[in-house]
Amino acid sequence: MPSLYDRDTASLSRLQKLRFFPLAVTGGQGSYVRDEEGRRLLDLSASWGAVSLGQAHPAVAEAVAKALGDQAAASTLSNATLPAVTLAERLLELTPRGERVWLGHSGSDANETVARAVVAATGRPRIISFAGAYHGGTAGSMAISAHSVQEHAEKAAGLQVIPYPDPYRPLEGDASGGAILAALERAFETDCPPQEVAALFLEPIQSDGGLIVPPPGFMARLAALCRKHGILIVSDEVKVGLGRSGRFHCISHEGVEPDIIVMGKGLGGGLPLSAAIGPAEILDFATAFSMQTLHGNPVSASAGLAVLDTIAAEGLIDQAAEVGAHLQAALRALAQRQPLIGDVRGRGLAIGVELVSDRATKAPAAREAAKLVYRAFELGLVLYYVGMNSNVLEMTPPLTLSRTEADEAVTILDQAFTDVAAGAVPDEALAGFEGW
Ligand code: PMP
Repeated sequence: MPSLYDRDTASLSRLQKLRFFPLAVTGGQGSYVRDEEGRRLLDLSASWGAVSLGQAHPAVAEAVAKALGDQAAASTLSNATLPAVTLAERLLELTPRGERVWLGHSGSDANETVARAVVAATGRPRIISFAGAYHGGTAGSMAISAHSVQEHAEKAAGLQVIPYPDPYRPLEGDASGGAILAALERAFETDCPPQEVAALFLEPIQSDGGLIVPPPGFMARLAALCRKHGILIVSDEVKVGLGRSGRFHCISHEGVEPDIIVMGKGLGGGLPLSAAIGPAEILDFATAFSMQTLHGNPVSASAGLAVLDTIAAEGLIDQAAEVGAHLQAALRALAQRQPLIGDVRGRGLAIGVELVSDRATKAPAAREAAKLVYRAFELGLVLYYVGMNSNVLEMTPPLTLSRTEADEAVTILDQAFTDVAAGAVPDEALAGFEGW
């Protein structure tokens, strides 16, 4: 009898896989998933942040069962539904500048919609985004992204890509990101006239690009520069929003009020759901401009409401801040013992651990990162790596993660680092697990 993982290999397309080890999940509760052999693994990824309340949260399960028990259609294209309207109203309450909400299935479709809508509604053809940005996997969202995994994708005409300020690897030795702002100002005076730019897309923490927290003040200065020229600010909070950073909107750490906020992943608590929240002049500028049959689906919308209710009822924003600080402190202590760790950074429960083979040169340790996540998996911990150098361990656990679970994760990681240093993972083990 072939294993579930082998059946997956033989049946599901590689096009949609990003695999780091042979995990086959058969169920789960809270912060743990269960594999084919019945082994419990502590999940520090939470399906890349999508399982925001942990596996099988009763509030989500109940909301989904209720929505399907008396089903209010499947779509919101040609009718209103109570779950979609209520979710939109709640998101507007949580986002003071917002006037309208667009509901979708994924971060990708939401970012693509916003990118198309800002250009069409303003008549300005260009967009600014960051090197390393991952805004999605559809043609339109890839077109405004600049992550190395998408080098094959066609870019939007006139896309202006600027470096993301990385305090660990500062450009021209300037950790404040000032050189990036100066370069953009020069571009505005030369080959990128600002009146041609509709919007700036930013990630308040650049996640797939390496879980990079921008230096203090950078985003505010960038936003002010863009605002001066009437350029809209779009905060892509798909991975780091919704309380994960210790604030409801991650961009609020920067003192920036964006024009548009994009949410996805964790909003559905494990169901497909995304949202773009912004001004009526953009999100109401046309009808039938960006719609898919199941957008605003009442089952997904009901799950989204349950997620928002639970975040408030269980105090999960404060918990993410508190457990996240605890986990980061434990990882910094781990860095004292494990020389492969070059940097620990993050906000709340969005945490990155950058691996380097030499702390002085900061040479990225990509192979070691691949071996580390592989070994952690063998020891019962699920996490992946991100980054343009493929060397940053990413942690986006459920917001419900406890301190005890955080401690358990660090204990396993400690062992995994020691084992990798001792050569426990042979190169051959990684065959077929290219990651990215
Ligand atoms: N935006 C950001 C910041 C993301 O991290 C991702 C996915 N990693 C997306 C958009 C796309 O989301 P999805 O894959 O759910 O479409």
